[in-house]
Amino acid sequence: TGSVIIVGAGHAGFQLAASLRQAGFAERIALINDEGHLPYQRPPLSKGYLKGTGGPETLMFRPDKFYQDNKIDLITDRAQAIDRNARKVALASGTSLDYGHLVFATGARNRLLDIPNAKLDAVRYLRILDESQALRDLIAPGMRVVVIGAGFIGLEFAATARAKGLEVDVVELASRVMARAVTAEISEFSQSRHSAAGIRIHLGVQVTAIEADGGKVTGVSLSNGTHIPADLVVVGVGVLPNVELAAEAGLPVASGIIVDEHLLTADPNVSAIGDCALYTSKRFGGSLRLESVQNATDHARCVASRLTGKTEVYDGLPWFWSDQGPDKLQMAGLTTGYDRVVVRGDRAQGAFSAFCYRGDKLLGIESVNRAGDHMFGRRLLGAGGSITPEQAADASFDLKSALT
Ligand code: FAD
Repeated sequence: TGSVIIVGAGHAGFQLAASLRQAGFAERIALINDEGHLPYQRPPLSKGYLKGTGGPETLMFRPDKFYQDNKIDLITDRAQAIDRNARKVALASGTSLDYGHLVFATGARNRLLDIPNAKLDAVRYLRILDESQALRDLIAPGMRVVVIGAGFIGLEFAATARAKGLEVDVVELASRVMARAVTAEISEFSQSRHSAAGIRIHLGVQVTAIEADGGKVTGVSLSNGTHIPADLVVVGVGVLPNVELAAEAGLPVASGIIVDEHLLTADPNVSAIGDCALYTSKRFGGSLRLESVQNATDHARCVASRLTGKTEVYDGLPWFWSDQGPDKLQMAGLTTGYDRVVVRGDRAQGAFSAFCYRGDKLLGIESVNRAGDHMFGRRLLGAGGSITPEQAADASFDLKSALT
């Protein structure tokens, strides 16, 4: 194979480097890192880190020594151009690296708001450690924050901000929270919990402008004519995959860097993994681009296997979690295209799961404070199994009996 150069040291890039060494890969590994920190975990940025007091070191996958011990060249730089004929990566610092195999693990970046005053200092985003740190240092009791977007990150931030004593409004264009990702059952439950915590949720409306006075944010205007006063605006309206470097190198890209079921691009010397990769899914048919730790790390393990001689089709089972206030949401499988939802557990008690079916086939399970159902779903669906809607609905049915 020759040297492996990994562009991007997030969840996917870090895991690939670690898994390669674990599998006995003996040649050079360079991990190009354009953030000013050792590779770190992203999920706590909108959860525990935002709430807590620990320093950045609490987020790191591994200490510095790990990279030295495992001969992983962690290079603080940015990949700027790829020459696929010469197999070279040009870095922003002016140096260049030769590769035998190149892996894009470039992740995604915040989608930016394009409305009046969106560039003011009090309009913030939440993707990288520096942004989370800045928000953590900034938020204080009594401050008024408007969160734009009721996706996972927006709601996680909102719950944390509220718990810290801020006045919180969430504005969402869709008619329910997390509409893109979860069933109405979970959306409604989540919305009622956030409302009960004192968060005001505005659905079916758009923020049309940030209002400011002499550069200081004073609030936001909504498409329905309402004005919400605010000192701070936090934007969580999704991400854009970082595909430009691959596209400039002449590789096919669409809503991600296009890779096949082995996570290989059109060039046999180039792979793409994690948030940036639009992959051909054997499990679901068609192409998928997912944004999750599971997807990033399982992609990485699959490519590490291939580069150490064990080629296999990528077939990971998607799963995801989100912590919002006291509630733990967990998803197993992909629920797109469901036509029936069966609830197991007790919504009123705040612990239930939505089993999503197409016909009699279980597609996925979304759980709220029901970790057992989630783990069951990962095992069952991972093995290609299903249970009937009647079994799912029957509280006395022993889920474990369906696992062989
Ligand atoms: P990233 O982690 O984005 O890493 C890509 C890296 O590549 C970045 O450091 C980027 O700066 C770098 N890069 C890009 N271009 C270049 C270049 N040209 N040269 C060098 N470096 C470059 N997922 C879950 O499953 N559960 C959760 O609870 C959850 N919570 C989240 C909370 C937050 C606040 C965020 C932002 C994400 C969360 N996610 C969660 C999603 C998860 O973190 C991502 O899916 C995961 O980080 C994807 O890993 P990745 O390596 O593909 O991309």
